[in-house]
Amino acid sequence: AHLDRIAAVDDDVHAFLQVDRDGALAAASEVDRRRAAGESLPTLAGVPIAVKDIATTRGLVTTAGSKMLEGWVPPYDATIVTRLREAGMPILGKTNMDEFAMGSSTEHSAYGPSHNPWDLERIPGGSGGGSSAAVAAFEAPLAIGTDTGGSIRQPAAVTGTVGIKPTYGGVSRYGLVALASSLDQAGPCSRSVLDAALLHEVIGGHDPMDSTSIDAPVPPVVEAARRADVKGMRVGLVKEISGEGFQPGVKARFDESVQLLTELGAEVVEVSCPSFEKGLAAYYLILPSEASSNLARFDAMRYGLRVGPKGIERPSAEQVMAASRDAGFGDEVKRRIILGTYALSSGYYDAYYGQAQKVRTLIARDFNAAFEQADVLVTPTAPTTAFKIGEKIDDPMAMYLNDVATIPANLAGIPGMSIPNGLADEDGLPSGMQFLAPATKDERLYQVG
Ligand code: GLN
Repeated sequence: AHLDRIAAVDDDVHAFLQVDRDGALAAASEVDRRRAAGESLPTLAGVPIAVKDIATTRGLVTTAGSKMLEGWVPPYDATIVTRLREAGMPILGKTNMDEFAMGSSTEHSAYGPSHNPWDLERIPGGSGGGSSAAVAAFEAPLAIGTDTGGSIRQPAAVTGTVGIKPTYGGVSRYGLVALASSLDQAGPCSRSVLDAALLHEVIGGHDPMDSTSIDAPVPPVVEAARRADVKGMRVGLVKEISGEGFQPGVKARFDESVQLLTELGAEVVEVSCPSFEKGLAAYYLILPSEASSNLARFDAMRYGLRVGPKGIERPSAEQVMAASRDAGFGDEVKRRIILGTYALSSGYYDAYYGQAQKVRTLIARDFNAAFEQADVLVTPTAPTTAFKIGEKIDDPMAMYLNDVATIPANLAGIPGMSIPNGLADEDGLPSGMQFLAPATKDERLYQVG
């Protein structure tokens, strides 16, 4: 049914870069066979899933949205993909994304943008817009995203779906194409909080292949999602991101939902996180710095694109690298490599990267103080509903501002969730509400979500 749905709508939505019809059907048949043989199967066995094209899939092209990896077939599966396969979940295909997960709209994909199923002229968010669009368009019941600064939560908000960035270290990063290693985290995209919890249980938990993986059981997210009770819960309204200056319809729906939490028995308190306003600036130094280092591996020697420089008969290795990186990387990727290399260079390191790291510590302290007063924090997920394709593509600063509410969680390593929060009056498009919890307390998000 999902493959049929993809065939019917994906020419318009373009959520997928690649559909693995044969692989998905074979995995589904295998589940049927095991079930017929009387085997007891995992809860999600047979439930198909879409995977962001940033996770390596053995035998299945993985591009991370870049020409640099066009046609690259990984020889191994990411740990999360291994866990999906072990759970008997057929993989429908790989979803579109901004190149190397840099962006908020999928317009930086080397393979063209995805479209928001609510209005095809609008963006589905990014970088994981393909995953959220696939779920919103009923092409997949579940999808995998990755979130370095909001790439699961912001697409969820603008497509009216659910998206979770787990605690840093809660889900293995082994086999994910690295953007910024200290910020990256994979997580579930779904249409309901309980669905997300079931998927979280499948992909989460310790992985010896990832040195930053937390050696502890997955938080009790399914139980919390089923409990779904906010009575007595202390919910912190973050003064600095309470929707002031956001699109009026986004703020109006947010205010109503905060009111609803009070009516349902939560105790809403105001908290202050003064360092949040520096979060965006710190993030856009730390991310390019780590990315410039991570992307150094695309050297045209070991794998990936290789082009010869024009007009040079016997080019040096360096000339081949330069020509390949020039041809293989898109503008946004180049912009960030240059920014990051600059911020890390001697003489500038302390002034830029060092300062940004200090801001990171201040943000973590703000969260610690806030979580003394509240069990979870609440903010709108994104400042606006989905904007038009093309509207912000020439203005990187405008694009970066989408991330203002989602970035602090990545800088501090704490978990965050975006849930659908109703439609904004002025355009009838979905808005999102974000919950944040202390590190390793992911279950609180599921309980309140
Ligand atoms: N929009 C953010 C960026 O461009 C988020 C990226 C992400 O989470 N992968 O960096």
